[in-house]
Amino acid sequence: MTFNDFNLDPKLLDGLLSMGYSKPTPIQEQAIPMILEGKDLIACAQTGTGKTAAFVLPILHKILNTETRHLNTLILSPTRELAVQIDQQIEGFSYFIDVSSIPVYGGGSGAIWDQQRKAMQQGADIVIATPGRLLALLQSGEMKFTHLKHLILDEADRMLDMGFFDDIMKIVNYLPTERQTILFSATMPPKIRVFADRILKDPVKLNIAISKPAEGILQQAYVVHDAQKMGIVKHVLLNDLFKSVIIFASTKDKVKALEREMQKAGFQAKGFQSDLEQNERESILREFKSRSLRIIIGTDILSRGIDVEGINLVINYDTPPDPEDYIHRIGRTARADTTGTAITFINEKDQRKFSNIENLIGVEIPKLKIPEELGEGPVYDPGLKRPTTGNKKPWGKKPNKSGFRNSNSKPA
Ligand code: AMP
Repeated sequence: MTFNDFNLDPKLLDGLLSMGYSKPTPIQEQAIPMILEGKDLIACAQTGTGKTAAFVLPILHKILNTETRHLNTLILSPTRELAVQIDQQIEGFSYFIDVSSIPVYGGGSGAIWDQQRKAMQQGADIVIATPGRLLALLQSGEMKFTHLKHLILDEADRMLDMGFFDDIMKIVNYLPTERQTILFSATMPPKIRVFADRILKDPVKLNIAISKPAEGILQQAYVVHDAQKMGIVKHVLLNDLFKSVIIFASTKDKVKALEREMQKAGFQAKGFQSDLEQNERESILREFKSRSLRIIIGTDILSRGIDVEGINLVINYDTPPDPEDYIHRIGRTARADTTGTAITFINEKDQRKFSNIENLIGVEIPKLKIPEELGEGPVYDPGLKRPTTGNKKPWGKKPNKSGFRNSNSKPA
């Protein structure tokens, strides 16, 4: 499945591309169609599953397809940190579209509060709020949700643990009863079910577990320029403890080119790709299994098909397109409780993609120093990668949240 299958607005797909997402995660595959259909939804999913995008993307799509724009969606979050994170993701996805959001939370300085109030007066499509502050605003009449279409409760279990049950029930009383309600929670204790029964209508239920790489894998990465990759491969393979090695490349043409280059450098390496005859492929696999071939080079097809014991090194010559592929690829090593090493090359273009993989598997992978003779690599700074192509916003650049977006940038 790809993001194209959801029929989302093409400009949202541009936003996804610039965020480095190539394939939906399981929660996104399941939740996005349900939310687009307008169903109430209760989903058990932890941070790291891609849950934020699972509700943000369909909501942005729906807002884009709304004729009259009013405050459309309320997202309740237990903490200001999570509210800000959600807001940042919305900002990333809506880089090429005109949808605005405001985080509203308590505990900040008077100046922040003034900014929040000003932004609310200017209007926004989405408010992301902590329950306490929002309730105060509703009670004072400063905020109204007359035309609200969607209520999203993120990390509902945490909100209840923090004692927000009563506040949320009061907030719900200020909302139209005709709305779509979506609840995400990392756990599903009985109190969440009771709570859900009171505010959701006939919800679809989803339960998602996170994939995790096997324990015995030593994961490492190099932040590189493309021209440095081959030098590092040669350097790593000097260690002859790596007796059985898989190198993954993104396309079959790259597999062929790498095969030539490795053989020229004197390594015992063969490419495994779809242009080979079936018997050639079988023979390569046999050689690899019997250890008479040290290195096999392939694409992701190899990551799903090959079950060979004793592979002790996997090299991702190109950063895998998404976390599931990463887990499949590195899972070729450290099978059956043995140990193995997985090394990934991250070029400048793939930095965002790699940081998404780290986020989704919940591990920060150490970045190793490039051998001195190969020169300096690029700086690792995935957060700063911004799209460089496509339409620019009418206001030239995204507003920062201390300045908020100008209200006249909204379509009439
Ligand atoms: P969340 O579970 O929403 O906190 O997401 C965890 C991390 O995964 C965030 O850094 C997201 O940017 C990233 N992420 C979410 N969906 C995808 C996807 N489809 N592909 C790659 N990364 C993703």
